[in-house]
Amino acid sequence: MARRPLVAGNWKMNGDRAGVDRLVRGILAGLAQGGGVEVMVCPSYVHIPQVAELTRGTPLAVGAQDLSEYDSGAYTGEVSGAMLAEFGCGSVIVGHSERRHLFGESDDRVAEKFAAALRHGLTPVLCVGETLEERRAGSTEQVIARQLDAVIGHVGVPALAGAVIAYEPVWAIGTGQTATPDQAQAVHAFIRERIGGRDPGLAGEVRILYGGSVKPDNAGSLFGMADIDGGLIGGASLDADAFLAIVRSAGQE
Ligand code: PEP
Repeated sequence: MARRPLVAGNWKMNGDRAGVDRLVRGILAGLAQGGGVEVMVCPSYVHIPQVAELTRGTPLAVGAQDLSEYDSGAYTGEVSGAMLAEFGCGSVIVGHSERRHLFGESDDRVAEKFAAALRHGLTPVLCVGETLEERRAGSTEQVIARQLDAVIGHVGVPALAGAVIAYEPVWAIGTGQTATPDQAQAVHAFIRERIGGRDPGLAGEVRILYGGSVKPDNAGSLFGMADIDGGLIGGASLDADAFLAIVRSAGQE
């Protein structure tokens, strides 16, 4: 079965009410109904209700950028999976490199967040990726395997059926330096093989997105690779025209 491409925008800590309104309306204006590409945006927590309202009944899905590993209680500042689901999110990013590196999220904590997402019926978008030092040291596959195995060890391989994986080399995020299509494909194939070693059927079905300075001019060559099923887009997702151009590239593959 062919994997349906997914293009997800990670807005990070950007936007205000008026800007979010303009951006969502701009994306909706150019989004084909029933297109072959699944499209999602991940606003900040506070903008989720606004975006959920604007996108109700449209093909544009809403996701979150993070969630708590806990379900409720005395966890000041945290937001649970149940809260996200109630406010219209269908998916949530877990283990983004900014969470791992700026906020110290360990592999184990990411695995707990992944499990929390599943508990609340959210699709986790699990980010994995190596730093520049790790790539230069030749340990890319080792790092990806460790990040992936932490989650598999916690929830089991079958749980990946309800998830999306995003390969995001840390050195390519927000730097303007994109992995070449061949570099990205090699890691995507490695991820699929690693899952395939445990469940070949699932490996063929799970969607693996590429993220890291994807722009309209490089999206087509990345999405054309056999194991790249769409993208997780940061900077370019804040511009409706650029984001829509990337969505169209995914639809042509
Ligand atoms: C990201 O933050 O997930 C990302 C890929 O950012 P950018 O596209 O800006 O590199």
